[in-house]
Amino acid sequence: MPVTVRIPTPLRPFTNHRATVEADGETVGQVLAHLTSSYGDLRTHLFAADGALRSFVNVYVNDEDVRYLQREATIVRPSDTVSIVPSVAGGSGATDVEPRSSGRATAAPLSHDEVKRYSRHLIMPEVGVAGQLRLKAARVLCIGAGGLGSPASLYLAAAGVGTLGLVDFDVVDFSNLQRQILYDTADVGRRKLDAAADRLTALNPEVRVVQHETRLTSANALPVFKDYDVIVDGADNFPTRYLVNDACVLLGKPNAYGSIFRFDGQASVFATKDGPCYRCLYPEPPPPGLVPSCAEGGVLGVLPGIVGTIQATEAIKIIIGAGETLAGRLLLFDALTMEFRTLKLRRDPACPICGDHPTITSLIDYEQFCGIAPPAQAAAAASLPPAFEITAEELKAGIDRRDPIWILDVREPREFDICRIPNSTLIPLGDLAKRLDEVPSGADAPDIVVHCKVGGRSAKAVQLLRERGYTRVKNLKGGILAWIATVDPALPTY
Ligand code: ZN
Repeated sequence: MPVTVRIPTPLRPFTNHRATVEADGETVGQVLAHLTSSYGDLRTHLFAADGALRSFVNVYVNDEDVRYLQREATIVRPSDTVSIVPSVAGGSGATDVEPRSSGRATAAPLSHDEVKRYSRHLIMPEVGVAGQLRLKAARVLCIGAGGLGSPASLYLAAAGVGTLGLVDFDVVDFSNLQRQILYDTADVGRRKLDAAADRLTALNPEVRVVQHETRLTSANALPVFKDYDVIVDGADNFPTRYLVNDACVLLGKPNAYGSIFRFDGQASVFATKDGPCYRCLYPEPPPPGLVPSCAEGGVLGVLPGIVGTIQATEAIKIIIGAGETLAGRLLLFDALTMEFRTLKLRRDPACPICGDHPTITSLIDYEQFCGIAPPAQAAAAASLPPAFEITAEELKAGIDRRDPIWILDVREPREFDICRIPNSTLIPLGDLAKRLDEVPSGADAPDIVVHCKVGGRSAKAVQLLRERGYTRVKNLKGGILAWIATVDPALPTY
């Protein structure tokens, strides 16, 4: 009888998203060994060099984490489902929730307009006037006014949350409009926080919108967070995720967490009084570059709509003290199969921040923790000697002179479909080492110009080709975007 293994989208380039393994009576370790022998690239994602399962990948049998069973020795039975749950940058049975905003001076009574506006809440026993006053007195902070922050802040404003803080420092880009429903086409180029404040205030003038136009850092997180009751984490990168988690644990603020990638979403509530935190789930971040971001891997536009709305739901439940939150559970949503599943989460007594003997007692350097070099250092590492670079104008001049030039595009096929330089050859960076036989070599071979979108991936390709003995290889500075900007503005950009 086969065992089903579910593999979420961050790992899907390597496999179908569901694999079945003949594994009657075998252990989880054996099932994973079968899987990685069929899909070699998956091995490096699941296991460290010493053979141990990586700490940013969790394995579940049905709804239980194998760390709380017999780990890799856990026996799987036919019809069991083994799930691999990696951390995604992009968002125990819970106890009844203590209302978060009680105990503070109650807000002013509801006006006639507010009674009308919130009438569908007021007639529900779980909300009523008392719950609506709690919402009015509540202060919620949304980290990021992007894909997740858009629906979360819209619904929280509509629900009557009295104070809504937004942390963001971006401007609205055309490529945001596919999912960031806070913004209109006319907002492109505006500061996100200005556009968001206009939209949220238009939706509900009773709400006070507080703008925090800043990049969240270890220096400013605690002072910003301390004035809020609930944090809604819509971060799109791992350093901010861990920073938000740690700040919430240190201040005892519940964290309505959501993350998204392609078709997969996650949601939970961390940092409640007894609940686990993000570090209990993922003690360490994946190494930089292993898990692509939404900007690199894409995201279905409607997915943050669903996950961000779940985060708003959890925040509202925390505020009014109704129902059971996702504290102690991880919700997984797969838009392709339209399935919701919840897995059990436990507080890890050895957790470095919320465990019994915490070793982290103040905020740390999260860029360093996530292995990300400061921008200047990263730029230096990626930069090639000037002799290994060519500008778009120089490439165009060479083509016009009919110089023998072979143009190698190392982007992904979907990017190639959007725009390409004429007569270029596509070999995605990840395939290049395996497909070197397609790259012309020898004394008569043409010069090679490598490009990607902006020049980072192609710099790696140039390094790889030079290491393999190719000497006449250059990197197109600024990638195809520079080519479009200076040579061929008729091509679409993305
Ligand atoms: Zn923890």
